Parts: sequence; C-alpha cells; structure tokens
Amino acid sequence: MAVPKRRMSRSNTRSRRSQWKTSAPTLAPCSNRACRELKPPHVACPNCGQYAGRAVVAPA
Ligand SMILES: [Zn+2]
Repeated sequence: MAVPKRRMSRSNTRSRRSQWKTSAPTLAPCSNRACRELKPPHVACPNCGQYAGRAVVAPA
C-alpha cells in the first residue's frame, strides 16, 4: 500500500480542512394537498404523517 513519504505541512492540512462546508438541506413540499409542508424527500412527512399518499405515522 502506498505510504506518504513526508508529513503534510500544517498549512496544507489547514487549507484542505478549510474546504469543508455545510450545505442547506434539500426540502420538498409534502405531496399531501392539504399539508404542503416542506420536508426532506423520501421521508414521511413530520406534519401530517403521510408517505406516498397514505398515512404511515400517526399525525402529531
Ligand atoms: Zn404532510
């Protein structure tokens, strides 16, 4: 297995780590017409408890 020959400089380490960024979560409106709450895709709606048009979780 390849092994690095030299220790990476603190500057290089820091400049690589400075590229770590957070991104805004993707949100899509709930497919339930009565709800339309923004929620992550492929997740049961936390507001109405529906997924793919049927109730899967008891609404809060
Ligand atoms: Zn909903």
